[in-house]
Amino acid sequence: MTQSQELRLGVIGDPIAHSKSPVMHAAALRARDMAGEYIALHVTPDRLEETIGAVRRQGYRGINVTIPHKENVMAYLDELSDEARRIGAVNTIVNDGGRLIGRNTDGIGYVRSLKEEAAARLEGRRIVVIGAGGAARGIVHALAAEGPDRITLLNRTTQRAEALAREWSDLADIRALASERTAEALADADIVINTTSVGMHPHTEELPLDPALLRGTEIVSDLIYNPLETRLLKQAREAGCVTHGGLGMFVYQGAYAFEYWTGAPAPIEEMRAAVLASMGVSARNG
Ligand code: NAP
Repeated sequence: MTQSQELRLGVIGDPIAHSKSPVMHAAALRARDMAGEYIALHVTPDRLEETIGAVRRQGYRGINVTIPHKENVMAYLDELSDEARRIGAVNTIVNDGGRLIGRNTDGIGYVRSLKEEAAARLEGRRIVVIGAGGAARGIVHALAAEGPDRITLLNRTTQRAEALAREWSDLADIRALASERTAEALADADIVINTTSVGMHPHTEELPLDPALLRGTEIVSDLIYNPLETRLLKQAREAGCVTHGGLGMFVYQGAYAFEYWTGAPAPIEEMRAAVLASMGVSARNG
């Protein structure tokens, strides 16, 4: 490859030093023998517009977008994919010859991970989603496309879950229940997904729900990947449920981005191993 064909990629966020995306995409480029670089750019909100201008001019092929820019960045792009527009957030920008296209790979990345790692079929399943924040929006949007029997949303702030259920009532049977009705919602659930930050490092002792309610649940999934196994997942595993952690979501949202930028299939296992290694875990043990 000549110098001009080198892929320029990166991620913008504030803060950004903790991001595992650079190590994961560097491993992907290496595994596919592609010349290029993926850098972390610390961008504060007041510098977002000028940074997007520089991305366009300086020939970046792609950029990932993380907290706190996923919503605000949309104003500076030329085009949005249908799912990014509907979710209201962009985590991946593709630069097509100076035209910036915003996409959202968080939800589809999560669903690909869930299907690969825990639930081959989502059609006809009864799914409970705990939480109604930014991550839940992407996930519920992608789950709805899989033809579930129904999706029940439970959130600390019930009105937020109700608003989401109303907004997407055209996509699937999506309903909201107050968190006091968690037992009722879980009674006939096939799959339970925690999209809240409850249980994340450093508050690893916290639980988003009473694990005793999971007795009949087939699959329990948690978006959190620090720790790799949350207390919720540990207790669900001990109760006999199939468990699914958040690392796969992170890997697959990056995999979709890599595929949009390069047109090549993402080297999933190398990407996963690189993230695990950066967390001090060997892939074989992870
Ligand atoms: P967010 O937009 O701030 O939403 C947070 C959600 O958690 C809301 O539903 C909030 O409820 C709920 N919540 C927060 N603290 C709570 C508590 N003490 N008790 C009950 N509910 C509580 O955050 P987000 O962007 O959706 O992220 C949520 C989680 O997903 C984080 O742990 C994040 O690390 C994880 N995530 C993982 C990946 C991945 O690649 N694996 C990607 C994105 C996000 P209220 O509406 O009542 O405030």
